[in-house]
Amino acid sequence: MTDARRLELETNLVRVHERIDAACRAADRDPAEVTLVAITKFFPAADVVTLVELGVRHVGENRDQEAGAKVAELPAEVRSVLTVHFVGQLQTNKARHVVRYADVVQSADRDRLVDALDRGAGAALETGERHTPVSVTVQVDLGEGEARGRGGALPDEVPAVAERIASSEHLRLRGVMAVAPLGLDGSGTRAAFDRLLALSRRLRGDHPGASWVSAGMSGDLETAVASGATHLRVGTAILGPRR
Ligand SMILES: *Cc1c(COP(=O)(O)O)cnc(C)c1O
Repeated sequence: MTDARRLELETNLVRVHERIDAACRAADRDPAEVTLVAITKFFPAADVVTLVELGVRHVGENRDQEAGAKVAELPAEVRSVLTVHFVGQLQTNKARHVVRYADVVQSADRDRLVDALDRGAGAALETGERHTPVSVTVQVDLGEGEARGRGGALPDEVPAVAERIASSEHLRLRGVMAVAPLGLDGSGTRAAFDRLLALSRRLRGDHPGASWVSAGMSGDLETAVASGATHLRVGTAILGPRR
C-alpha cells in the first residue's frame, strides 16, 4: 500500500462521512443510525485492509468469484472485525459459495434463491465454514415500466419472499434493499426511496426485527438518508473510479 493510496482513501472516506453527517443533520437523524458499507468491487484486498485500518467495518462486493478470492486474501485479524455484504445479482448455483464468506446477502429476490441460500448456509454451518446464520435483505425492484430490471422482487412479491427468508432455518431476515432506478432526477429518486420506506414499514408490521433499509450509493446517498435509509452502499466516492 503506497502512502498516496492510503491518503486518497482517507480523504475520500472523510468526505463521505461529512456528506452523511450533513444529510443526517438536514433530516434530523442521528448518524449512528446509518451504517456505511464500502463497496470494494474492482479493488484489491490491500484496499480493504487499509479501509479497515481507517475504521471501516462493513464492505460489500457484487461478483462471487472476485469476492470469494478477495475475502480469502484478508488477514484473519482484518476478517474478524469486518462484516462482508454481498450486494450483486446472484445466480442460484452461486448461493452455496457466497454463504461461505459473506455475512450478509442483500440481494435475495426470489424463493429459489432463498432456498439455495438456506441450504448453502446449513452446509457451511455443518462444515464449520461459518458459525452464524446469514443475514438477508430482500432486494426490491423500484423501477416503473421501462426502468424495471436492475434486479429485485417486484413490490407485490416482497412480503412472500420476506416470509420465506424469515421461515428459513439458517437465514435471518434483516429488511429491504434497493438500487435507484436509472434515469430519474432527484425528486424521482426520492419518490422511489420513499416507496422503499413504505414497503419497509409494512414489512416491519409482520417482522419487527427487519429494520434495515439499504439504499443510496455515491450519487444519491443524501436522498437515501432523507428517505430514512439505514445502510448506504458507497463505492466510487470512497475507492475512486474503476481502474
Ligand atoms: C457498485 C454498487 C454500489 C456502489 O455504487 P457507487 O455508485 O460506486 O457508489 C452500490 N450498490 C450496488 C448493488 C452496487 O453494485
